[in-house]
Amino acid sequence: MLFKDVIGQVDTKQHLLEIGKSGNIPHSQLFLSQPGAGALALALAFTQYVVCENKSDNDSCGVCGACVKAQKMIHPDIHYTYPIIAKKPSPHPSLSTDYIAEWRKEIIANPYINELEFLQAIGAENKQGNISADEARNILNGLKLTTFEAKYKIQIIWMAEALSKEGNILLKLLEEPPENTLLILIAENQEEILPTILSRCQVVKVNKIEDDAIADELLKKGVPANKAKHIAYLADGNFNDALKLIDATSSIETIRLTELLKYSIRLQEGTNSGALVKWSDDMSKIGRENLKSFLEYVLHILRETLQLKFAPNTQIRLTDDEQKTAQALLKYTNLNKISDLLELISKKHYEIERNVNPKMVLMDLSLKLNQIIHTKD
Ligand SMILES: [Zn+2]
Repeated sequence: MLFKDVIGQVDTKQHLLEIGKSGNIPHSQLFLSQPGAGALALALAFTQYVVCENKSDNDSCGVCGACVKAQKMIHPDIHYTYPIIAKKPSPHPSLSTDYIAEWRKEIIANPYINELEFLQAIGAENKQGNISADEARNILNGLKLTTFEAKYKIQIIWMAEALSKEGNILLKLLEEPPENTLLILIAENQEEILPTILSRCQVVKVNKIEDDAIADELLKKGVPANKAKHIAYLADGNFNDALKLIDATSSIETIRLTELLKYSIRLQEGTNSGALVKWSDDMSKIGRENLKSFLEYVLHILRETLQLKFAPNTQIRLTDDEQKTAQALLKYTNLNKISDLLELISKKHYEIERNVNPKMVLMDLSLKLNQIIHTKD
């Protein structure tokens, strides 16, 4: 992982770059992190920087052999320990590497993942994850070997809370590590770390990610600006939560949009418009910011629908549910109608911004949307 791909954390990155360059790296570090703040991402960026064969002042090169291996998490001198459950039946002592394939897959997909999610990914169900005494001994033995390719042998221990008393096996290692050995422990709860371990490590505090940095990252993922800001606010510095909120809000908004279209498509002249009135009424209560975010979402769906129709080979940013909505729109509308809808929704967004009464805006929106959909071509 490159430093530039770690979200926010400007000061911590700078600190790690400095010690990475200095050649005077502390043997034992503890990254003490707020949940979802990216301690593992920082550790991955730092270790890659240490092994990179062509680093610049600000980052790893990303393309040398060592970088490529670090990115795939297959560098022979970077080792990972993380909580697991025992595989059954287990032919040998339970080690983190029993799940190395799952570990690489999950962490490469999302280095901000939390322990519970990782344990679910390896099928732990209700069982608690553990770093066993066998694993701790395995770390000791592994670090006795000489390095393969890099100057340093590096051991990352993710969620070091799971070490419990097994941590004592590592005390001597933490105190007097073999030459050219780096240990990076990552934890979220200082109280759950053995004091004997804590006192032997140089602590790197990893604070919450700033809201702006999270919002910027969400923008890059195609989340509309207003929604990105709102999610960043709700996530409160936890990027993993922010990732979950994208789907959560988008599914609420998908439901709202699907209802609107369903009621409108069903509505024939002379039939009861009660469902649309009720929809406008409910929506007028969700608050101005949520309403703006909903309208931005509708604009996003309309644009992607056009894309789906006229440039199907480009990247379409729609979930499966949204694809269904887009197909329904294509069935009942055409290019002119979608342009009219885009104009209508933009106008309503503007009115909401200008503090026009939401109920009036929404009643008008549902009437006009209805007219557009039902006008004969
Ligand atoms: Zn490199």
